[in-house]
Amino acid sequence: MKDTAKHQGLRNQLVTVLKEKGITDKNVLEAIRKIPRHLFLNSSFENYAYQDKAFPIGAGQTISQPYTVAFQSQLLEVEQDHKVLEIGTGSGYQTAVLCAMGAKVFSIERQNELYRTTSLLLPKLGIRPKVMMFGDGYKGLPNDAPFDSIIVTAGAPIIPQPLMAQLKIGGRLVIPVGEDHQIMTLLIRKNETQFEKHEFGEFRFVPLLENKN
Ligand code: SAH
Repeated sequence: MKDTAKHQGLRNQLVTVLKEKGITDKNVLEAIRKIPRHLFLNSSFENYAYQDKAFPIGAGQTISQPYTVAFQSQLLEVEQDHKVLEIGTGSGYQTAVLCAMGAKVFSIERQNELYRTTSLLLPKLGIRPKVMMFGDGYKGLPNDAPFDSIIVTAGAPIIPQPLMAQLKIGGRLVIPVGEDHQIMTLLIRKNETQFEKHEFGEFRFVPLLENKN
């Protein structure tokens, strides 16, 4: 599959939709304008890739809806060269958006099949996360911590303590919390022991699972 003028036009329309839904961060909107989402999906979805919808990516998982990707990315307040840890690489689309925003991305995926497919796809598209790992994101990446921000792209029944511990002071953790549906939650680390909590309404994600399959 190629990235054509038609795809670019559909992305421009998607950016307009996201603005109408309340996304304001220019860095986020420009990244969505740039990243060819159709190349992260099976070719049978080519004609739908720029709808604001989630789609299956294999292994029972889904690529997040663009609005969700934009909403979470905006909450991270990414600056150039920020170290960002992503839990749930999946298709790699969110990873690519974060890379386009100027982040140094560390991404973990627990499904081996997705991990392998996506770690081959991203370099082909010229997208280079700092680290891609096959493993359990509940544990984070202690050896690369601390992070400016952490994004979890699967529904977490609880906020994993290791992720809180791996945030810089002032750092931001964006995580959908809940079992059946999730409340988008932002934790901002105030000091060694205190976190400020903000909640942003309901979203739906596939579950964050413990251990590898
Ligand atoms: N950001 C991805 C979202 C994929 S869905 C995208 O836009 O495509 C969530 C992903 O989280 C799935 O790929 C799932 O396998 C992964 N996941 C679930 N539990 C995990 C865990 N404990 N550690 C790492 N990844 C996990």
